Amino acid sequence: MDRDAMDHDALNRWSKRAADWLRDYHAHLRERPVRARTAPGELAARLPATPPETAEPMERIFADFEALVPGAMTHWQHPRFFAYFPANAAPASMLAEQLANGMAAQAMLWETAPAATELEQAMIGWLRRALGLAGHFTGTIQDSATTATLCAVLTMRERALGWQGNAAGLSAQPVLRLYASDQTHSSVDKAARLSGIGQNNLVRVATDAGMSMDPDALEAAIVQDRADGLRPAGVVLCTGGTSVGAMDRIADCVRVARAHDLYVHVDAAWAGSAMICPEFRHLWAGVDGADSIVFNPHKWLGAQFDCAVQFLADPQPQIRTTGLRPDYLQTLGREEITNFNEWTVPLGRRFRALKIWFLLRAYGLEGLRERIRNHVAWARKLAEEIAVLPGFEIVTPPVLSLFTFRFRDDAATEALLRRINDDGRIYLTQTRHRGTFVIRVQVGQFDCTHDDVMCVLEVLRDLAGAAADAPGRSAS
Ligand SMILES: *Cc1c(COP(=O)(O)O)cnc(C)c1O
Repeated sequence: MDRDAMDHDALNRWSKRAADWLRDYHAHLRERPVRARTAPGELAARLPATPPETAEPMERIFADFEALVPGAMTHWQHPRFFAYFPANAAPASMLAEQLANGMAAQAMLWETAPAATELEQAMIGWLRRALGLAGHFTGTIQDSATTATLCAVLTMRERALGWQGNAAGLSAQPVLRLYASDQTHSSVDKAARLSGIGQNNLVRVATDAGMSMDPDALEAAIVQDRADGLRPAGVVLCTGGTSVGAMDRIADCVRVARAHDLYVHVDAAWAGSAMICPEFRHLWAGVDGADSIVFNPHKWLGAQFDCAVQFLADPQPQIRTTGLRPDYLQTLGREEITNFNEWTVPLGRRFRALKIWFLLRAYGLEGLRERIRNHVAWARKLAEEIAVLPGFEIVTPPVLSLFTFRFRDDAATEALLRRINDDGRIYLTQTRHRGTFVIRVQVGQFDCTHDDVMCVLEVLRDLAGAAADAPGRSAS
């Protein structure tokens, strides 16, 4: 064996060194620009084209890491990260992830990681109670909301085809139809494509003035499709759309879907975490009538990426759709065991439940609720302050902790956004709302303080004048 190669004693020493490095990294995050200042290709150009033939000392590998990587990262754990949605990693969940990584388990079957399977079942139960969902829901932990939504849409397909699609293929089958509002995430489009249903068969149901799916329009679309000889398969509703936080009227839409025997999936990837606070649950009233619900504890709650929870009213339709049990995956004498790979697309699975267990115990639901309530209150306060800045306009008011604003016109708003992100004190991203270019603000980073949130105001005051002078041009 090469004497330089790392063994487990060296791993122990270097883990301590890495822990020290990470402590300093987190302690000094506010001194870094939130968004990477790297130009495309810059990092790649600094790497050798060929791998080393002989072992290199860890000292040199680690030094290169420090020199190359952190400076070319966008810092999602920066307390002034207000872009996209958060990808929170509470320290307790990071610790759990280190342990899961160190054991390097592969949790495809109960037998290959009994603790992972049973903790996963227990954590689904804990989270179901934490969110106030009805007792009949069970579920699994997926890698992403995209995978959960794909699984739900595949289940819609098989159910609508009398379970014939998987075996016979789709070429001789009726045309299936899916229904979602134009506020749902692109993962629904992706699921329509990948499921073979086809993106053209994803019906965009009209929304009302509040951006919620209109249940009457849903009813009309289903009836029309049936009259045209098409076969409705399912409805995807959103609780907290990605663009501006749209909330479908779940109860009314579920009633329509039920009347037509359609499968219902609710995408609450971001906003689901807020449902640990009872006062926000009216936003998804009726959700207990859904067949499938996804929410990402890796967004707002604090379980390190990746961690997407899919609740299922009845897992059997999904298992029938995505599950296979070949001879080499049988667990002899234990046919009734839960093998979570049968609930999803990949065979191999990570041990994701450990970080939820650590997270919920280390902070308690009260600790997590307090953060979310602060984020919501601070977002409202920030929106009120921005509304009275000269030239600024709140375009969509806060939904939980997400709102959008604009400055003068599209060109000035875009110029301002570029300046904000080149400045580095905060990080914001854009969307289009009813044709207008708007800047999104979401408050949700696990360690952010009231002052971090109010820093947005300071940055806007500092940079608005310059942006007004140079509309449409980048500062760089
Ligand atoms: C983030 C998000 C998704 C996609 O989540 P992934 O886990 O990254 O696939 C889907 N829907 C909504 C509403 C989201 O906010």
